Amino acid sequence: MFTMLLCGSIKTRCMKKIRIFLLVICLVQGAVCMAQTKDSLTVAAIIKEATDNSQLENLANELMNGIGPRLVGTPKMQQAHDWAVAKYGTWGITARNEKWGEWRGWERGITHIDMVQPWIKTLEGTQLAWSPNTGGKTITGEIIIIPEVADSIAFQAWLPNVKGKFVMISMKQPTGRPDYNWEEFGTKEAIEKMKKDRTAQTDAWRKRMGKSGLSNKELALALEKAGAVGIISSLWSAGFGVNKIFSANSIKIPTVDIALEDYGLLYRLSESGKSPKVSIRADSKELGIVPTFNTIAEIKGTEKPDEYVMLSAHFDSWDGGTGATDNGTGTIVMMEAMRILKKIYPNPKRTILVGHWGSEEQGLNGSRGFVEDHPEIIKNMQALFNQDNGTGRVVRIGGAGFLHSYEYVSRWLQRVPANYKQGLETTFPGSPAGGGSDNASFVAAGVPAFSLSSNSWLYGSYTWHTNRDTYDKIVFDDVRSNAIMTAILVYMACEDPNKTSREKIVLPSNSRTGEPGKWPEQRSPTRKGGVN
Ligand SMILES: [Zn+2]
Repeated sequence: MFTMLLCGSIKTRCMKKIRIFLLVICLVQGAVCMAQTKDSLTVAAIIKEATDNSQLENLANELMNGIGPRLVGTPKMQQAHDWAVAKYGTWGITARNEKWGEWRGWERGITHIDMVQPWIKTLEGTQLAWSPNTGGKTITGEIIIIPEVADSIAFQAWLPNVKGKFVMISMKQPTGRPDYNWEEFGTKEAIEKMKKDRTAQTDAWRKRMGKSGLSNKELALALEKAGAVGIISSLWSAGFGVNKIFSANSIKIPTVDIALEDYGLLYRLSESGKSPKVSIRADSKELGIVPTFNTIAEIKGTEKPDEYVMLSAHFDSWDGGTGATDNGTGTIVMMEAMRILKKIYPNPKRTILVGHWGSEEQGLNGSRGFVEDHPEIIKNMQALFNQDNGTGRVVRIGGAGFLHSYEYVSRWLQRVPANYKQGLETTFPGSPAGGGSDNASFVAAGVPAFSLSSNSWLYGSYTWHTNRDTYDKIVFDDVRSNAIMTAILVYMACEDPNKTSREKIVLPSNSRTGEPGKWPEQRSPTRKGGVN
């Protein structure tokens, strides 16, 4: 009886416990269920908004065609910052331009280049960024090529020959056909021969330039001091019709880049004694030192307003094209994701920020400035997603060297429907980015900052820093897919009940020196750039 009673009372207590246990399970499951339902509904709403009401084409048209390239220190860069703030305003999102530094102000004007002798042809070319102008005039002069000389003394002796002339400082490419074109149509022997010849000519040119004893910068200054009227270069980007357009080294005379085809024409005419002449007009304005900004926009968090999830893409570009894939596409992905999130998820658990960085191209300056200026945000950043390598679908995401990144990033990614992660490969825990784009500025400060890395679309040769980085290269369906993925990842990172772990992997030791691997160091931006 006693035993029975005891048993009975145990039994009763057991039953109670089980009932409570079951109740808890139901509640937990219910909560999980509810969370899952909420997630599914949100994801579906994000996709619907991105698909039925996409603003990507409008944004791209306004930014790339309406404003154009966004070189740091130019009025167009400033115009773009103001446009972004106004655009966020129309979506009810708070945005501001935040000063991080100053840069040499410059405004690109007309470049017009003609061959006027031995026959007339308007040439394809443009002045390099920050090139000096031709003083409002058209300058005509003969062409002269950097010659083969014995040494730097002989080079100095030759220098007076440049007086009154345009100096060609790049090699003549033996072929304007990209390798893939040779590989499709050429014989094996012909391809091998072409590559061998090209390598030999490239080496010979490097040696020829080396004999001047001058760096590129010193050469430009020596040429202008000796009375050259302009410098002509050609930086072929290994595709049909593509040249990369960077900045000038000259400080008094213009430097123009001429496309491979026309550069080769001038070079061959000059080599064969036909004494070609060109006329160049290059207009540009020096604007003194101007302030430089990042555009930051924000959707305030409700539960944890002091924790942050950040979207990131540099806003500046080189200016040979209109910066469509570097980094117009990253920019519009982040803007579109913000617009969608504001509409579908207006009261996020954590604060959502977006950074449109100035001057990534000169060394991640805008993002480094932000990291340095906002330790309180950096300390509490849950995650950052950066995009900056073209128009393609995101096909690579790595864990950036954070030991537990697999746990949270892959959990967030699970919510992205298969359609929007076709071909995606993930690497965990991955390794920290030491540079390359703005995520590196945050990784260096210990923030779980991830690069959403695109498939190529021949980005490296055809659009990256080239004269062909224009609207027509944008693949909108890929960009749309990226905006959807970004919005979902940001939503998941905001809703995550846990704060992300920042524990770092032990980096492998340097295989060459045997020294232990080091996490990339946080670096200060150039706060005053473009000045000598
Ligand atoms: Zn870029």
